[in-house]
Amino acid sequence: MTLLKMIMNNLNHHIIWNDIASTLELLRVPGKHVAVIIHINPDGDALGSSLGLLKLVIKLGHTCTVISPNNYPGFLKWLPGTEQVIILEESPANAMDSLQKAEIIFAVDFNELKRVKKLNDAFIVSNAHKVLIDHHPDPDMDVNCILSDTSASSTAELVYRFIKDAGLLPWVDKDIASCLFTGIMTDTGCFSYNSSSRKTWEAVAELLDYGIEKDRLYYLTYDNYSTDRMRLLGFCLNEKMEIFPEYCTGIIWLSRKDLRRYNFEPGDTEGFVNYPLSIKGIRFSALFIEKEDYVRISFRSKGDFAVNDFSRKYFNGGGHANASGGESYTSITETIKRFKELLPAYKDELSNYEG
Ligand code: 5GP
Ligand code: MN
Repeated sequence: MTLLKMIMNNLNHHIIWNDIASTLELLRVPGKHVAVIIHINPDGDALGSSLGLLKLVIKLGHTCTVISPNNYPGFLKWLPGTEQVIILEESPANAMDSLQKAEIIFAVDFNELKRVKKLNDAFIVSNAHKVLIDHHPDPDMDVNCILSDTSASSTAELVYRFIKDAGLLPWVDKDIASCLFTGIMTDTGCFSYNSSSRKTWEAVAELLDYGIEKDRLYYLTYDNYSTDRMRLLGFCLNEKMEIFPEYCTGIIWLSRKDLRRYNFEPGDTEGFVNYPLSIKGIRFSALFIEKEDYVRISFRSKGDFAVNDFSRKYFNGGGHANASGGESYTSITETIKRFKELLPAYKDELSNYEG
């Protein structure tokens, strides 16, 4: 990477780190109801950072729940504290009650309320003290305190920074450190991307001091798949992947029938979108998954092709420059056709890839 590119990269990062005094003042007096809300289809970072925060808040003497719009991947069920996650889709009354009585709400790992689906309205009308901790660009939420840094590897890294800034490190234990480590590990693809900053490695080094079992956390996360999931991956790579060398692009798509055939469980397709990027010369990949009433899309890129802009422009989505998601409300066939039609306009940009 040229020096100019490195400087531009740094200039592209935005940090909003509000004063945390008012949040700490509230946390100082025990006995509060606290809720942590996370985005739909939560990943390792959403779950790791929210559960790390939950465990900390409970140690400070409060009651706390994590509220998720829908179920989380089975391969993350072992994370400490998952018994305290309320799933809105499964227990709506319980989730709403928990959110309504919260005096402090932490929103973690998302930048706009549309990501929490039906929790949106209850969040807006709540009089709770609201804190957003996130690393996505352009946070767009009305909260009392924003802790946002787009250069951070993960929200878990930012939760660690918050705990450290707040002088709360003495309350951190092995479980909290394990949750935060898992958040960083998963959002960096095991430290392969989003992890070029010294701050990330410093946070990891400090988390290791709490006695976390790094190798165990790795295999619990990555060697914990069902046979169906592995067979689904094989099927995707063999039969459902299409490569467009002229556009340096690869796609994978799955219909509901495909998912049924492999007894799909939430989280089974996590990571699939990265596979086309492992092919030489491919720098843009998309994964299309047919849901009941829409098509869920994941985008990934290498280099400076900004998939968050692409997703925002054509597929009602957003996210990071190299990892984003979106939705389409036409059929999966129509959606893929549209995607293919968009590629020629990006031919120069996509083929002008250094890496
Ligand atoms: P994934 O493909 O893993 O679901 O999402 C990739 C990244 O984009 C994640 O950081 C996720 O939070 C973000 N993202 C996914 N879908 C959306 C969306 O619809 N809107 C926005 N703003 N971000 C999204
Ligand atoms: Mn994240």
